[in-house]
Amino acid sequence: MAETRVLSGKVVSDAVYTAIEIRIQSLKESSVVPGLAAVIVGENPASQVYVRNKTRKFSELQLHSETIKLPHETTQAVLLDRIVALNNDPLYHGILVQLPLPDHINRALIIDSIAVHKDVDGFHPENLGRLTAGRPRYVPCTPKGIMRILQHYDIDPSGKHAVVLGRSNIVGRPMSILLSQKQKFSNATTTICHSRTADLRALAKQADILIAALGVPEFVDQSFIKEGVTIIDVGINRVDDGSEKGYKLVGDVAFEAVQDIAGSITPVPGGVGPMTIAMLVENTVEAAENSLG
Ligand code: NDP
Repeated sequence: MAETRVLSGKVVSDAVYTAIEIRIQSLKESSVVPGLAAVIVGENPASQVYVRNKTRKFSELQLHSETIKLPHETTQAVLLDRIVALNNDPLYHGILVQLPLPDHINRALIIDSIAVHKDVDGFHPENLGRLTAGRPRYVPCTPKGIMRILQHYDIDPSGKHAVVLGRSNIVGRPMSILLSQKQKFSNATTTICHSRTADLRALAKQADILIAALGVPEFVDQSFIKEGVTIIDVGINRVDDGSEKGYKLVGDVAFEAVQDIAGSITPVPGGVGPMTIAMLVENTVEAAENSLG
């Protein structure tokens, strides 16, 4: 069979940045520099890396970004106050609160407190509701980025069976909604699986497009897939490898095990990750444009 095609998120994200440059310039001509406030609570090392990668891209594009680092002990009331202040600060068109939050903070309450027009992560229930209704404002960055990868490589989900492994509000659930919408480059028949799914392997094996968003290192191997499937590996997992760094990053898919069976696959790193950041930039630029009315 034909060689497995590697779907590069790096290539697609570079195309996004090239296309968005003109919008950024046009905003700057109106004296608007798109601005993002990233709030991080606690010292979770993976979260620190994600926020650093996101804000680094903003700097490279000469956009405004600020990381607000708060200690683990920060109370919910203090965090809420900070978000209210950011909601009212015209310097920031987008606000993201990096997840997970410490256990003493009610995550839903915090997400609900972000102004819907600054919710560039698209996690606010109003924005998720709009997505479900087919009238999206900001689409969550990771699923939005995955749809762009499919479009770029001309993998039309229409009429295909898409199986999504994972039902989080951040990835799995919005992904299943985007894939099944009644519109061009969607229209898939979608199955969403989770930890209570009976015989997940058999369902996965039916997939023409398989999205793995479980957070379980190399969970999907050759026994989960059929020949020619398109695999999107969302997972970013740190596993010990005895190296100086102490770990390596792997996806939710055992890349080498599936490589000669799948038709196409996103790598980890270099697949979905760069697209999540590109979509965050795009949503923030859109928020800045919206601020002009
Ligand atoms: P969550 O932990 O919120 O959700 C995981 C989902 O997978 C849940 O629905 C859970 O089921 C399901 N699940 C977990 N283990 C199993 C199992 N053994 N069998 C069946 N279902 C299982 O994770 P996220 O959605 O936030 O993230 C998923 C992965 O994607 C992580 O590795 C994360 O790091 C990565 N990620 C990557 C991004 C990127 O830019 N590349 C962005 C965001 C996340 P249940 O609901 O029943 O508990």
